[in-house]
Amino acid sequence: SSYTPSAERYKTMEYRRCGKSGLLLPAISLGLWHNFGDVDDYKNCRKILQHAFDSGITHFDLANNYGPPPGSAEENFGHILKKDFEGYRDEMIISSKAGYKMWEGPYGEWGSKKYLVSSLDQSLKRMRLDYVDIFYSHRPDPSTPLEETMGALDLIVRQGKALYVGISNYQAPEAERAMQILKELGTPCIIHQPKYSMFERWVEGGLLDLLEREGVGCIPFSPLAQGLLTNKYLKGIPEDSRAAKPTGFLQENQVTPETVDKIARLNYIAQERGQTLAQMALSWLLKDDRITSVLIGVSKVEQLEDCLESYSRTIFTQEELDRIEHILGQ
Ligand code: NDP
Repeated sequence: SSYTPSAERYKTMEYRRCGKSGLLLPAISLGLWHNFGDVDDYKNCRKILQHAFDSGITHFDLANNYGPPPGSAEENFGHILKKDFEGYRDEMIISSKAGYKMWEGPYGEWGSKKYLVSSLDQSLKRMRLDYVDIFYSHRPDPSTPLEETMGALDLIVRQGKALYVGISNYQAPEAERAMQILKELGTPCIIHQPKYSMFERWVEGGLLDLLEREGVGCIPFSPLAQGLLTNKYLKGIPEDSRAAKPTGFLQENQVTPETVDKIARLNYIAQERGQTLAQMALSWLLKDDRITSVLIGVSKVEQLEDCLESYSRTIFTQEELDRIEHILGQ
């Protein structure tokens, strides 16, 4: 391989403790939901991962179904690990998940022990890893006893296939029960991964308080609302944007005039602060020390560079916060 990680990689990044666990995570983590599938440009994937690691990003977030096609993000990541990061595994925190549909039949989704255990085995093969650092139940399963789903997470840790476990997309009451069961099993839940951004505030209605009380970390996903909380949609929908791509989860009809109006007004405040809107959206989340890390996606190295300017700018005046709330509340 021609890649040698930068000797400066730990000089600037901020690392935050994940709840009350022993694990530190970078303020910015990189997710591989979009932009790392077989439909994407492999060279670009490599460049993004190298730049991330060079910048102190140690945490890479995957799931069984990331692609498209499902599984291809883990496969591509596995190739790049082998090619570029051989010898650096112990400097990386790699996560995967199971919960959404991955294969046909009754055992290919949700929260049974059968599905979780076999899905992680598949993920490890695709990534060519012996273990992941964090394994998540990707979503709660209303039809499987929570004891079984949490029991599967506990088993996976005891089998040595994951070091830590977490939950994602669990509302506060079910998260509280899940955390209690895991505690009793002796495998604490160390992290919760919810959708959280300026545009998506449900976690403020009890979940964040619960996580703080229980000493569990929080890693918001889609902190840029899939790219809406940037300046890219101000003048229409660019051809290379997620909203324009056929494989993108963001739909064109989510880029409404009302949303663009809010984005423009938020962008104005960001400019006054001397930040880009993407930076301000991340700084705004990171101002809360209950947030362990923000889990971003990027389609280009330049976007990553932009986002990296956020964790050092987390101070907001009350007036700025009030003006932001005013815009978001409308
Ligand atoms: P973001 O909200 O960060 O959106 C990422 C997109 O925003 C990029 O693809 C890019 O869009 C755009 N973008 C990023 N930085 C900039 C910038 N500086 N300037 C302009 N545009 C920018 O997060 P994602 O929705 O991608 O989610 C992040 C990660 O969270 C996922 O990869 C995954 O790991 C995790 N996740 C977990 C879920 C769960 O259920 N647990 C669900 C969803 C995500 P473009 O492509 O248009 O250039």
